[in-house]
Amino acid sequence: MPNEFEIIERYFHHAAKDARMIEGIGDDCAILRFADNVDLAFSTDSLVAGVHFFEDAAPFDIGYKSLAVNLSDCAAMGATPAFALLALTLPKADEAWLRDFSSGFFELARAFDVKLAGGNLSHGPLNVTVQIIGTLPKNQALRRGDAKVGDDIYVTGTLGDAAYALQVKLGKAPPLAAPLQNMIDTRLQRPTARVAAGKALLGIAHSAIDLSDGLMQDLGHILKASNCGAVIDANLLPLSHALQTIDVNIAKKLALSGGEDYELCFTAAKSEALAVEQLSQQLQLPVHRIGEIVPGNELRVLNHTVVKEGFQHF
Ligand code: ADP
Ligand code: MG
Repeated sequence: MPNEFEIIERYFHHAAKDARMIEGIGDDCAILRFADNVDLAFSTDSLVAGVHFFEDAAPFDIGYKSLAVNLSDCAAMGATPAFALLALTLPKADEAWLRDFSSGFFELARAFDVKLAGGNLSHGPLNVTVQIIGTLPKNQALRRGDAKVGDDIYVTGTLGDAAYALQVKLGKAPPLAAPLQNMIDTRLQRPTARVAAGKALLGIAHSAIDLSDGLMQDLGHILKASNCGAVIDANLLPLSHALQTIDVNIAKKLALSGGEDYELCFTAAKSEALAVEQLSQQLQLPVHRIGEIVPGNELRVLNHTVVKEGFQHF
């Protein structure tokens, strides 16, 4: 059976040519150009009950996260999200559920000044699909394919929190002390899209991706698209206070291959190190250098024995 990337490659990645399609299938957003100075970034992501959230998850969180994961794809391109479409498939018209769901969705929409411009409603198993449309200055998008040998590799925030929270929910790991557990639960249920960081990286970073499926897998997409390799140091992976309380090897493993961090991984020339540090200070967002882009096509990890890579649907 083909995996999700083979399915896209085999059945959907037809080389449709259109001069307005600056970037098509293969990046966090498609980039389309209709006017002279502005590019539009388009992306869509679905949340499916039982796959992306538990059937009994709080509706507020489902609404919040359905938009957050799409904002994160905009962030990965350096785009400013502007409009959203919402396709909702519901098993029943439960008004209490709808009230909470829409509160979660619009809390985030307001925070990012995103307007809901339409959508679709149908009856069936719970599925929330959001499409996002963002704007970018012409030719500035942060693509997966523009990493250069010698670039430093950075990540925003901390890694592995959401993955540990998921392990706890699944009963596969012990819960942490309450305040730390609450913190990582929030990271899983209401991820923070790094939109301001993505925008600030325009003109600084060479390439970027958001971390939805785990650092190794997602960085792997940058390496493949840019035709290069990387060396990262597991001792440099940023771990939250919460993850610093668990076994260090488990924490490293979650940071390397756990999904749903929705942080940004980006590469930038060494000459931009100061600009990256200033950006981090201005946004009050930790940004850590974790390694370097090298020739070849391998991803090497120092100071950790890698067992398994990121999330795969098929
Ligand atoms: P992300 O994790 O950033 O949301 P995905 O891994 O879902 O991206 O998809 C990888 C690339 O393949 C993206 O450019 C996406 O637009 C494209 N893609 C995914 N599914 C399809 C599909 N059914 N038809 C066409 N393109 C697709
Ligand atoms: Mg993405």
